[in-house]
Amino acid sequence: MDHIINHSFDAIPKSYLFSEVARRVAAFRAAHPESELIPMGIGDVTRPLRRPVIEALKKAAEEQAHADSFHGYGPEQGYDFLREAVLRHYAGFGVRLALEDIFISDGAKSDLGNLPDLFSENCVVLLPDPVYPVYRDSNLMAGRKVKYLAATRENGFAPLPGKDTRGDLVYLCSPANPTGAAYTREQLKLWVDWALASGAVILYDAAYECFIQDDLPHSIYEVEGARECAIEVCSLSKTAGFTGMRCGYTIVPHELAREGQNLHDLWLRRQCTKMNGVAYPIQRAAEAVFTAEGMAACKEDIAAYLRAAAIVADTLDELGVWYCGGKNSPYIWMECPKGLDSWQFFDALLEEAGIIGTPGCGFGEQGEGYFRLSAFSGEANARAAMERLRAWLQS
Ligand code: PLP
Repeated sequence: MDHIINHSFDAIPKSYLFSEVARRVAAFRAAHPESELIPMGIGDVTRPLRRPVIEALKKAAEEQAHADSFHGYGPEQGYDFLREAVLRHYAGFGVRLALEDIFISDGAKSDLGNLPDLFSENCVVLLPDPVYPVYRDSNLMAGRKVKYLAATRENGFAPLPGKDTRGDLVYLCSPANPTGAAYTREQLKLWVDWALASGAVILYDAAYECFIQDDLPHSIYEVEGARECAIEVCSLSKTAGFTGMRCGYTIVPHELAREGQNLHDLWLRRQCTKMNGVAYPIQRAAEAVFTAEGMAACKEDIAAYLRAAAIVADTLDELGVWYCGGKNSPYIWMECPKGLDSWQFFDALLEEAGIIGTPGCGFGEQGEGYFRLSAFSGEANARAAMERLRAWLQS
């Protein structure tokens, strides 16, 4: 028997980027147990859940202990109390959605990886390069053909469609991981117009919308026509520190159809078959995020992360190192100094400055020569890391 395995797995890198980072850090720690490393690579939040969320979680947990308030399986698309809160959140951006468009999820990653189930294995997937590796690997695992859109310094790491751009599905992320680059409304309109003209579908990842400070779109549905060509995936992971809670939302507009098939109906059918919803207490906790008190608390955390990002950005400005991001994003995407490639800079920073970052080449070929620093480690770590970076650069 040599035909039972999905050999499409051969097409993906053997180890996930962050496993390789962890392996090198562990090896360095084993050899230098006295070293105090500063974690500037993390994509996870570090600030704890806020009080309104915890109170809602505790109350919902207690409800589960009583027959008259116990909740078993919930509605497939999520409880209306949470879907209505999401609807109001979008109304705040001037976006009007229908309740039926909203699907509550256990976070953005699963939906981003599962949404391609709606599309043929023959469809061509367009991905920015560098890219959040989940889009690439989940499509390669399913045997789909992937083509890359170069995100470069010249296009501000926000690639746009050209007259030769062809594809059936395109993933866009704004503000982007890893580069922190964000699309303007005018730029997103170019993508929407391209998709409407070509029949392609956009999978729009808004996981970092909560970091937007400038007048930039929080949702692709701020652009006219997007409801006919885009699915949007978002998450409370970064908005509210829910990485360990697991809750997000995906918008599949009921207008979105291709080849006589309604994508909303297909996604509902898919989810009802393979998913049994998100835990009731988690959905109650998520509802608390969208209250005035909950949102104000979450915004304080976002502001703290952005202060850490500003410490990094100001230092790079002062040192004359090129970077983007860090303003509407927790990520700073910097050029590797001294002509080093991404892994050389990773090793040098780790071994000579005790800073852990993420090599840009792990996000795609165009990431070679770049490096991602994350503000999630907080202000004190950002300050200490930048002092070490300054000393290292001047050594
Ligand atoms: N999308 C992007 C761009 C991310 O960077 C991440 C997590 O780092 C996710 C999605 C996953 O989010 P979630 O925790 O909701 O699965």
